[in-house]
Amino acid sequence: MQLDTEIAVVGGGIAGLTAAYRLQEHGFDVCVFEASDDLGGLASVYETSGDPIEKFYHHLSKSEETIVELAKELGIGKDIEWKIGKNAYYINGDIHPMDKPWEIFSFPYWNLYDKFRLGMLTLDIDVRGGIPKFDTYEQLSDFEDVPVEEFAREHTTPNVYETFFEPLLDAKFGSRKDDVSAAWLLGRIKFRGERDILRGEILGYLDGGFGRLLDSLINAVGRENIESNTRVTDIQTVDNEVTGLTAEREDETGESVTESHNVDSVVVATMPNVLEDLTGYSCDIDFQGTVCSVISMEESLLETYWLNIADDAPFGALIEHTNFIEKERYGGEHLLYVARYIQSPDEDVWQQTDDEIRETWLSGIESLFPEFDRDSVNWVRTARNPRTAPVYERGYLDMVVPYDLSEEVADGVYYAGMASSAQYPERSLNGGVVAGSEVADRIVEN
Ligand SMILES: Cc1cc2nc3c(=O)[nH]c(=O)nc-3n(C[C@H](O)[C@H](O)[C@H](O)COP(=O)(O)OP(=O)(O)OC[C@H]3O[C@@H](n4cnc5c(N)ncnc54)[C@H](O)[C@@H]3O)c2cc1C
Repeated sequence: MQLDTEIAVVGGGIAGLTAAYRLQEHGFDVCVFEASDDLGGLASVYETSGDPIEKFYHHLSKSEETIVELAKELGIGKDIEWKIGKNAYYINGDIHPMDKPWEIFSFPYWNLYDKFRLGMLTLDIDVRGGIPKFDTYEQLSDFEDVPVEEFAREHTTPNVYETFFEPLLDAKFGSRKDDVSAAWLLGRIKFRGERDILRGEILGYLDGGFGRLLDSLINAVGRENIESNTRVTDIQTVDNEVTGLTAEREDETGESVTESHNVDSVVVATMPNVLEDLTGYSCDIDFQGTVCSVISMEESLLETYWLNIADDAPFGALIEHTNFIEKERYGGEHLLYVARYIQSPDEDVWQQTDDEIRETWLSGIESLFPEFDRDSVNWVRTARNPRTAPVYERGYLDMVVPYDLSEEVADGVYYAGMASSAQYPERSLNGGVVAGSEVADRIVEN
């Protein structure tokens, strides 16, 4: 079958849907191709007995404005709620709340000097020379080649590194933690720095879940302009210009059908390995995977939303979603995320079946919380994806994929996926919205 479309978008996650929406605003004829049955990519959801819940935990940081603007345009901006997301830290059998200044000050593993140095770093003030300097951390790129450990030891104290940053880096990057740059750490501190000084970190959530934002985008783009269950397998170019693409889908009888489309431009809004398969453009950024379960419980487990774990547990964090968003919205069930980042497909958790993962998580929780009653578990649902977050290693910014690939690949090829600069220093829904919008702007300019 031969079809004509002005612009094809590969990937029906938030970046691809945003690109399609913005391009349509400029009058382009756009078709989105999504390989799976489900739209939304990493932000797709499970049904519950109340509101749907994201398969992977999601919240917004206060510094993320583009997604809020988009939600306003789509008529749901007023439904973004900003609340305190309570944080705590599990170490040596105890839970230490880490929201309020006096809680941080009473962390027993730090002396006064440790607290002072960490406090200064989070306030963006460099006190290494004894005299406060307010501009040291202004240019993140100055820290691109600095190893995160060296930086954290020098700019706070070795003890703060060993009792705080190192366990967090272990949970986030596992065996790759030594490759991570100081620029990433500084970017994270700035990115998540919006705090209510007396109460803690302010986080955002969309009433009804982020699936509502995806649904609003899908409605705006038009379901008739989105082909789900359709995998793009090839992009054709002639004389260094895009001319078409090939897509495969299963028809109603289960037969594989190949379609050809004449297109003027293609926006690839996927992980960069798909870009490489389609165009040959190779990106050196390494990605880690995630195994993440939602556990529904009759009883609450934690007193906080987010619990970082400095322990040999099989997971790096426990995130009790219903300590952030009321359980009544989910039919009264307590919902807990249990997640682990995966650096290699050889890791046990990656190899396990859903039943084995359930056992791994529940016995891990039991060993940290002896009072936990596994009979209170209603259900466990597990999502896994081999590419969910870049490893923000040193020299990362040199490896990001440009939005406009006319020089590197061919005229008419654009990239809005997770390896774009919008997804630095942290990958996020907002980053996807920024990347989709940036690509649309470039197509309009060209
Ligand atoms: C554990 C976890 C926690 C997170 N926490 C947060 C958070 O708290 N806050 C936040 O804002 N963000 C968070 N994120 C990040 C956020 O989910 C992502 O940044 C965002 O969803 C990425 O969107 P995307 O459109 O770029 O990519 P994706 O969502 O990956 O979408 C890409 C789509 O392309 C499709 N595709 C791939 N190949 C093809 C092909 N050949 N043809 C057609 N389609 C194809 C895929 O099926 C997929 O649907 C989290 C992610 C994870 C995994």
